[in-house]
Amino acid sequence: MISNVFYKWIYALLKSFTTLFFNMPRSSFFVFILFKFFSNPLSSMPIQDLDNSRFYKHIQISKTIYQTQLPLEEIIQTIKIKESPTSYKLLVPKDLESNWKLRNVKYQILKYPQKFSEIDPNHNKRFQKGCIPLREMKNGYKNNQLNELYLTCIASEFPDLVSKVSIGRSVQKRNIPALVIKIPKEKTIENDNFNLNMYRDKIFINCSIHANEIISTEHCYDTIQTLILFEYKNPILQNLEIWIVPILNPDGSEYYWNQDTNLGRKNGNKVDLNRNFPFKWNSGSTKASSSNPESAFYRGEHEASEPEVKAVLNLFQKHRFLFSISYHCYANAILVPYSIEKTQNPEPNLVSNIANEMIQSVYSYRQDKPFLAKKNLYEVDGTDQDTFFHDFGTYAYLIESSHRVENYKNLPVILDGFRPIIQNLLFIAKDSWKIRLKIQNSKGIPIVAKIANSAFTYYEDEKFESNLDGFYHLLVPNANKVKIQISATGYEDKTIELSPNKEFAQPFIVEMNPPTFP
Ligand SMILES: [Zn+2]
Repeated sequence: MISNVFYKWIYALLKSFTTLFFNMPRSSFFVFILFKFFSNPLSSMPIQDLDNSRFYKHIQISKTIYQTQLPLEEIIQTIKIKESPTSYKLLVPKDLESNWKLRNVKYQILKYPQKFSEIDPNHNKRFQKGCIPLREMKNGYKNNQLNELYLTCIASEFPDLVSKVSIGRSVQKRNIPALVIKIPKEKTIENDNFNLNMYRDKIFINCSIHANEIISTEHCYDTIQTLILFEYKNPILQNLEIWIVPILNPDGSEYYWNQDTNLGRKNGNKVDLNRNFPFKWNSGSTKASSSNPESAFYRGEHEASEPEVKAVLNLFQKHRFLFSISYHCYANAILVPYSIEKTQNPEPNLVSNIANEMIQSVYSYRQDKPFLAKKNLYEVDGTDQDTFFHDFGTYAYLIESSHRVENYKNLPVILDGFRPIIQNLLFIAKDSWKIRLKIQNSKGIPIVAKIANSAFTYYEDEKFESNLDGFYHLLVPNANKVKIQISATGYEDKTIELSPNKEFAQPFIVEMNPPTFP
């Protein structure tokens, strides 16, 4: 145990230095090498879910016994959840509890806490403390109140870099807050000619669509910290707009924290939101989703029936995100669209190639399950990532974290292991070949047009349109010229040929004209 702590400290120290000296993307590589070198004692962390009586026992023990009969290395493995003048209520790892039983330590087994608020009673203290700096927010799991508070705090700590917005409300009318990160463009000699309000590529990151997967919210906060505290000087960020929703399912989160930890996957209508998205909703497979409201995979009454799903789809219609990441847990994998069986990806399979680039240097603490890229874990349909990919052309990935609800003291190191994903994504956003268009009429009024391209062969009837503001973008696999066909009601079809661009350039303006009749 002591050597574990020692290595953790060494690791933390070296990591801070490398962050300082290599404050640039892919510094993760150096961290990774150092980490590999020093991390052996930590290389495996078995699943120990705090909300599961298979892993912990809930006990009451007298303070005298606790303080006089138990060695320090055992005490530090226990989690105090309540204190009276004479006794403690503790969560004790099951193996340790069995060991105490053999040694005839006196304690009493209690019913396992049902709500997460009882397992983590300090959440109230954290809330009452009010605003804390962003760098201190890795201080515990976050419920809706803490999430609202902390996003407000971040927006007031960094008013020039971020804003807090609402993307909608849940079934039970809870707010769904988001943080929008938009680093202002610095005026430099090179970009002086550019419009400082130029078009930005957009990224959407959501967490806790399954609100019982509470580590996922911590991945969102880790992403916020990474972008604002470490990468804010990265010029790539000046060309991006990043939307982060740390708790997409606030009703589920409320159930999980204040009713029962067995609830929380689904929303206030008992719908699994990640089976309610339109693409191949209710595909016909009984394994992929369920019509039974009691099932964990209940898909809802019809596609996009749920306000949380509608809120996300509205956002996509407005913003056409180029990339998206949804954090889940704890299968330790990246899921690549299409996740639905018998659905064929466009060719070339760029979405898979990018996934492999994104997961470079990811380090996970599961020896039993290596971190892998996969199509799915089991049969699914109506998932967010497939809808984003199919309907909006978004390169949409689902990251399954390695753990779900560990003792929070283990979280920083777990999150560190996944951080290369967002850092790699920034590079990919800059480094990939893109076509960027703005479709408008002769008066400059934006047009929503259907757009086909010659770069890919599609098999699933993907139909991409320009945004309400006329913008359209497409990632392409290489520098080859791409033929683009544009059609919109009331205008003559247009075909153009364009060379893709790697830079964050202004879009190519396509002017559409009314049909001419000979
Ligand atoms: Zn999930």
